[in-house]
Amino acid sequence: MSNTNYIFVTGGVASSLGKGIISASLARLLQARGYSVTIQKLDPYINIDPGTLNPYEHGECYVTEDGAETDLDLGHYERFLNQHTSQNNNVTTGRVYQTVIDKERRGDYLGKTVQIIPHITDEIKRRIKILGTKHNYDFVITEIGGTVGDIESLPYIEAVRQLRWEMGNHSVNIHLTLVPFLKASGEHKTKPTQHSVKKLLEEGVQPDIIVIRTETPVNEGIKAKVAQFCNVQANGVIESRDVPSIYEVPLMMQKEKLDVIVLEKLGLEVKKTPELKTWNNFLKRLKNPKGTVDIALVGKYIELPDAYKSIHESFIHAGVVNEVKVNVHMVNSETINAETAADLLKDYKGILIAPGFGSRGIEGKIEAARFARENNIPFLGICLGMQCAVIEFARNVIGMEKANSAEMDHSTPYPVIDLMESQKQVTDMGGTMRLGAYPCVIKKDSLAYKAYQRINISERHRHRYEFNSMYLDDFVNHGMIPTGTNPDTELVEIIEIPNHKWFIGVQFHPEYQSTVINPHPIFTEFVKATLS
Ligand code: GLN
Repeated sequence: MSNTNYIFVTGGVASSLGKGIISASLARLLQARGYSVTIQKLDPYINIDPGTLNPYEHGECYVTEDGAETDLDLGHYERFLNQHTSQNNNVTTGRVYQTVIDKERRGDYLGKTVQIIPHITDEIKRRIKILGTKHNYDFVITEIGGTVGDIESLPYIEAVRQLRWEMGNHSVNIHLTLVPFLKASGEHKTKPTQHSVKKLLEEGVQPDIIVIRTETPVNEGIKAKVAQFCNVQANGVIESRDVPSIYEVPLMMQKEKLDVIVLEKLGLEVKKTPELKTWNNFLKRLKNPKGTVDIALVGKYIELPDAYKSIHESFIHAGVVNEVKVNVHMVNSETINAETAADLLKDYKGILIAPGFGSRGIEGKIEAARFARENNIPFLGICLGMQCAVIEFARNVIGMEKANSAEMDHSTPYPVIDLMESQKQVTDMGGTMRLGAYPCVIKKDSLAYKAYQRINISERHRHRYEFNSMYLDDFVNHGMIPTGTNPDTELVEIIEIPNHKWFIGVQFHPEYQSTVINPHPIFTEFVKATLS
């Protein structure tokens, strides 16, 4: 086995306590100490990947460079570490079972009865270890989705138990729990944490470190109690208070010495605390904006900010570059029409039309694109948002009545957005879109070039439909031009309207590549345009 150290992050008491952010924060701190780190998420559901899941079920589907459709936590990992993740960084029960069942069909188990233990657990262990062995990271942080005690997470906890037994002092378990504050009695309560640790112990895993999520600061007595009843060292109880921004969590964890305790547990040398200069600078600017700007995000999941997670985060990064706080206002595309558009959108300095699938809310998105175009309001259309801008332009500028995307209307007379050739034979829904990073070449005299400052870029995709190049001349003659194309296929990836203050539609998803260290230039230029 290599010298990789494995950190397992489990959760108890409740879901959504922020295991992903704690994992990403710890990774950031270890990275600042010069270690190579990667983070992996194990998701105990049976879907092969979240690509087929509705955003109501699962929030945003994040797409990696290598085209994996993954959990949105991978977005946090990339934004915190400024480092790509891959298919190997997200494992689901579906994928684990699929591999085992395929092996069984091939006869690889040589007549044995195939069982959860050892076959499923072995496959989980293989997928955890592969990151360490293949890429030789110093640390692999594995976040186990769900909550201890769930039936579906049992094989994962068992795999962790076995790995800890095999790896000895090359592994650490961090258990994240909730310590609620009871107003009636005026005190923090540790019992749920105690119970959740008991559950973990029942499954054979003793945590080394307990991170307690709390709304308000807990006193030392509470920490001591958790330590005593949960059998961890006093300095192994870490407080994770609610903070206004997730980007404060690494610094909070540094103050709490989470990284130091992890290094000590692994018997590694603890050198002096590294400075997080760029991170601190980012936070300083984040907390002290010189102004604010209101931007509309037109989409159909208005009550679900997680559906557009990476877009929200990209606006935070771009706001910091421009020294403003971007207030993103969700506008329900289903409520927008020719009569309501002005009322619903007039107060915003910029309009972003979100990615999406299916026809719900599509006419509202098209109307929003018209409003932005006609009123010279800075506009960014992402994927479906770009497609809506194209449809709108075809209908209202070129005069192609009933122009549409073939996704919404099979029999439109003008399929200005059409199914890609490569998609025509596809029947399976899962993992079959045009996914992952593709190169794009940018025209020099364009807003895109102004943003990227180079002609060769690479951006991530997740779609089946495309700009229909059959109509390219009509668009160019009327003032909507392609400024970015795929060098191999000539697919149109970026459109702009030069005769407008700032109007860009991108077929790809810039939001997947924005990080704290590298805010995305399309977002920073968009926000800049809303300020002038
Ligand atoms: N539904 C559109 C397509 O498949 C756009 C997808 C998206 O916005 N991600 O092409």
